[in-house]
Amino acid sequence: MSWIGETRMADCIFCRILDGSVPAERVYETPGAVAFLDGFPTARGHTLVIPRLHAPTILDLPDDAVADLFRAVREVTRKVSDALHPVAFNIGWNHGRGAGQAVLHLHVHILPRYTAGGRGVQSLGSGGDRSQLAETAAALRRG
Ligand code: 5GP
Ligand code: ZN
Repeated sequence: MSWIGETRMADCIFCRILDGSVPAERVYETPGAVAFLDGFPTARGHTLVIPRLHAPTILDLPDDAVADLFRAVREVTRKVSDALHPVAFNIGWNHGRGAGQAVLHLHVHILPRYTAGGRGVQSLGSGGDRSQLAETAAALRRG
């Protein structure tokens, strides 16, 4: 797979996990992605899935890398589900410092939920206005 440029950034903690110089509990690997347990888990089985290619955000990833990353996300979700039997998941990523991204190597959090009735990612929003839907959609279609 020629897109796997394997860019390594010495100051990137996740690149260092990829090259083995920082230990991690790896749980799944493909030619394009690696999954390991979050070192400071907020739930049992909290897993991070990362592309092997160093890319700060999804906007920096080539198409094939996106596909490979999300195939790995699906597989790891299946593994966590089968092994730990959570009732649900929140799956997603913090995109940019302002959204809480501390490590600037794209990583998808797979966060199992063990109790029902939890809040979803929408709860992180700062408020919206239904009257602006058409205007907002038009702006996005233009962009
Ligand atoms: P962010 O806030 O960037 O979306 O999340 C970064 C995540 O990486 C955090 O949940 C944090 O616990 C995890 N993390 C940071 N450093 C390390 C590390 O050295 N090893 C592992 N396994 N996880 C880490
Ligand atoms: Zn990196």
